[in-house]
Amino acid sequence: MQCQTVLPGTECTFWCKSGCSYTNGSCENVVADCEGCERIVEGTIGQVCSLAPSPTHKWANGLCNFATHRKVEVKIEDLKTNPLKASKKAAAGKKK
Ligand code: SF4
Repeated sequence: MQCQTVLPGTECTFWCKSGCSYTNGSCENVVADCEGCERIVEGTIGQVCSLAPSPTHKWANGLCNFATHRKVEVKIEDLKTNPLKASKKAAAGKKK
């Protein structure tokens, strides 16, 4: 159904016949970590997230998985291994 309070007219899974079913009956404002994210929208209570009703929870366990401004950096080290030798070493190790 469409939100009638924070983001009027926006489709929201938390809006039901009796109003907003989210905790305390409303979305929460974005947090400092959200600054720069493209998902921030202006609601009637100030800046809110267009995807997550509680940005605090999204950042509680580290990086928000919806964030557009920060990504997890994965470093892949270029290992120079001869696959044939590695296979022989592995086979030799199993014989013991
Ligand atoms: S997607 Fe995550 S980082 Fe972006 S505004 Fe929403 S809660 Fe904040």
